[in-house]
Amino acid sequence: MTTNKQILLVSRPQGEPTTDNFRLVETQLPPLADGQVLVRHHYLSLDPYMRGRMNESKSYAEPQPLDKVMIGGTVGEVVESRHPKYRAGDKVVGIGGWQQYAVVDANQPGALRTVDTTHVPVSAYLGAVGMPGVTAWYGLSKICQPKAGETVVVSAASGAVGGVVGQLAKAQGCRAVGIAGGPDKCRYVVEELGFDACLDYKLHHDLKSLSTALKDACPDGIDGYFENVGGTILDAVMLRMNAHGRMALCGLISGYNGQPIPMQYPQLILQSRLTLQGFIVSEHMEAWPAALKELGTMVASGKLKYRESIAHGIESAPEAFLGLLKGKNFGKQLVKLI
Ligand code: NDP
Repeated sequence: MTTNKQILLVSRPQGEPTTDNFRLVETQLPPLADGQVLVRHHYLSLDPYMRGRMNESKSYAEPQPLDKVMIGGTVGEVVESRHPKYRAGDKVVGIGGWQQYAVVDANQPGALRTVDTTHVPVSAYLGAVGMPGVTAWYGLSKICQPKAGETVVVSAASGAVGGVVGQLAKAQGCRAVGIAGGPDKCRYVVEELGFDACLDYKLHHDLKSLSTALKDACPDGIDGYFENVGGTILDAVMLRMNAHGRMALCGLISGYNGQPIPMQYPQLILQSRLTLQGFIVSEHMEAWPAALKELGTMVASGKLKYRESIAHGIESAPEAFLGLLKGKNFGKQLVKLI
């Protein structure tokens, strides 16, 4: 019998979550039934959306049930299969959750996807060539729709989504400007990811200061904005949006623990004739194949760079997740499980 370490959500946070909201348990793996596949996880993805799932209230998705394994994207290897489509040794992406192994009903549509790790590292399928990459691709190409020569700004620019947004914008001939927390992240965004500029929002304590810095970094105004944060950053960008600018509302992480994030100048949506569109990447599955193909080709050829923050062992997942919500991660936050 193989032991499976799992992390359960055992209580719901009021405001900031703590490690007490989670519990580590050990269970024995059951024998496989027909149609099932046993996957040993190599990496678990930690993502900001998980904070929303910890709440009781229904959002665009059902809440994470209490006393069940936390939801999460995973990549791993098939170790045993009772499904004709999968063989031991196959590398697969799934939603295996915060645990070392998952027994997957492989007949469920979308439960597993085989991935080719010849030219793309397996962990990238949780980042630049996975859900965060497709999120960047979708929001930029379908909502911001930038043309060559235009200016695109993205917040949380050094992260899993933001880093891809700026590099795709550059590849399309745009000026790419990031907003990130701290000098190290900003240096990385410019020097390694190739953005034209990056503003450290922590240096700007009020709206006027951030908005003035944006004016300097975006002398021709802003045509496309990819929003990951909300609050003062969103207000500062809105003040610099050009007429008919497009804003992709991808995330509002500064409010995920329940803080109010009022918008100071909604009148600018009217005055500047802005388009502001929220989106959830999992509702656009039709876009995934083309996006994954493009992102995979770019990563394999070295044209799309990314960085990972790796925590080790399933026991470290809660702490690493809390860190992600505070910006302690630098690039895609993963947990290595083997
Ligand atoms: P990141 O890798 O960017 O990590 C989160 C980053 O957010 C932190 O590193 C931190 O960066 C920044 N951050 C956290 N709290 C604050 C705060 N209070 N103010 C400013 N910045 C903060 O995460 P992802 O790339 O995975 O996700 C980025 C965004 O995209 C999130 O909002 C997420 O919810 C959203 N998302 C939306 C999807 C959709 O379908 N709509 C799908 C996937 C992601 P820093 O140190 O620079 O502040």
